[in-house]
Amino acid sequence: MKEKIVRIAFALLIMAIVLFQFTILSRATETLSSELIAWGLKRSDNHNPPKLDSASLEILNEYHGIAIGNSEEKKLYLTFDLGYEAGYTAQILDVLKENDVKAVFFITGHYLNTQPDLVKRMIEEGHTIGNHTVNHKSLPSLSDSEIEKEIMDLHKALYDKFDYEMTYFRPPKGEFSEKVLNITTNLGYTTVLWSFAYDDWDENKQGREDYGKKKILENLHNRKYSFTSCH
Ligand SMILES: [Zn+2]
Repeated sequence: MKEKIVRIAFALLIMAIVLFQFTILSRATETLSSELIAWGLKRSDNHNPPKLDSASLEILNEYHGIAIGNSEEKKLYLTFDLGYEAGYTAQILDVLKENDVKAVFFITGHYLNTQPDLVKRMIEEGHTIGNHTVNHKSLPSLSDSEIEKEIMDLHKALYDKFDYEMTYFRPPKGEFSEKVLNITTNLGYTTVLWSFAYDDWDENKQGREDYGKKKILENLHNRKYSFTSCH
């Protein structure tokens, strides 16, 4: 009899611990901040790494996101954000192929729908395709289910079309929140920001070879390096 009471008491204790942990976890998810974080950095001179906002970087690191990394590695990561096709991608792919360089292309739903042949070419030539959402909306103001839909509708569309499963995510406009990172991480995505970008989205500045070349070469830094081109 005494043994039975001890066993019941023990079972109740386990249940209480499980319930307690469950309450903590669900409360933690509810209280994740939706406050908008706009990714920003301050360029440094003399090829030193840029200064990243420490609060943003801390949250990004917590969710194993990528922006800048090991200063021991002389590696340069090329990433292109493709909201729409401005007529340069085929040429970019030619140059990458000639130089045996692989890049990451973050695409939107519009890009996939209008340029399936270019996306197919990226995959066939060994590049990585990343998720830049269906509609390129700023995610922090959306509901959980809207955020998930923005990511997963594109994920499924690319998978259905080319049997390709994306694992890297770049938030539209570089805007995210702790809640956004939590959702993207739960969906199996690694969030990728950047450590250098310039205004090549400005159509008035496109096509000026020296302008872009100068900006890029001036800002190379011996860190994991992500160059973004956002249209
Ligand atoms: Zn973009």
